[in-house]
Amino acid sequence: MTRSDFRVTLLGTGVPIPSPDRFGPCTLVEAGEQKFLIDAGRGATIRLHQLKIPIGRIDVQLLTHYHSDHTSGIPDVWLTGWLESHFGTRKTPYRVIGPTGARELMENLERAYALDIKIRAADEKLPLSGVATDIAEFDRDGVVYEKGGVKVIAFEVDHGDVIKPCYGYRFEYAGRVAVFSSDTRYNQNVIKYGAGADLLVHEVASARPELMKEAYVQRIIGHHTTPREAGRVFAQTKPKLAAFTHIVLVGSERIPPPTIDDVLTETRQTYTGPLAVGEDLMAFEVGETVTVRRHQPPLSGSNPAKVA
Ligand SMILES: [Zn+2]
Ligand SMILES: [Zn+2]
Repeated sequence: MTRSDFRVTLLGTGVPIPSPDRFGPCTLVEAGEQKFLIDAGRGATIRLHQLKIPIGRIDVQLLTHYHSDHTSGIPDVWLTGWLESHFGTRKTPYRVIGPTGARELMENLERAYALDIKIRAADEKLPLSGVATDIAEFDRDGVVYEKGGVKVIAFEVDHGDVIKPCYGYRFEYAGRVAVFSSDTRYNQNVIKYGAGADLLVHEVASARPELMKEAYVQRIIGHHTTPREAGRVFAQTKPKLAAFTHIVLVGSERIPPPTIDDVLTETRQTYTGPLAVGEDLMAFEVGETVTVRRHQPPLSGSNPAKVA
């Protein structure tokens, strides 16, 4: 298949569960020469390394919200990206753009890792410019980045009454659009900013009906979008391709979590268009059409890709 210069790669499609198959939430967006990370959950650096992309090569780190599963990889991207080895190499400040809270997060990380920074600067003679941070915060919908033909628009989503702030992102590049829901309940703003998307990457959460009477399950599902609701978002936005990431499958000791096939079946009740269930390192070329490429060999067993 043809490679476009606008590409989205799911580095982590998981949730807080420490799974070897689905790392923490993180998505790589490559547009022309520029590379962006949306969030950096557990294992983000490992996935970049698998793609042979130096960690220091990331131009902008975007943040959606401050749940730890979306940020626990930040110190790793920031500090490992500073190392001189081929997998690091950052010489310029780590640029972070996020909703209010980004500055507090990064300033506290700088305090937490002050001794490492001091030691490496003295011992390895690493340039302090490469571990400096350049932080921009925002508190409303709007353009948060524009350079080299890439426009990034943040839009507020609804992850729950006290889980604020939380934002999704819309990327516009070369006449193409990729939209990322972040963590959210069914939300009109995703539909508004998802309009005209070539690729719409959305979260999803599901539990079997038997489990839905449990209060903790209701709380989890209540912070997210069910497959049926996600289908309604896709049916209204009509992307060339819809894709799931951040796949929350809730089970208990007695009741197993739904399967990926269950998620697909339920989504199909409200949406019949093109749909991919994300896997770590699954890539989307956003060109005239949107095409899907799985990581070879597949990370988890030999199941055929769930692309329908
Ligand atoms: Zn969250
Ligand atoms: Zn999350």
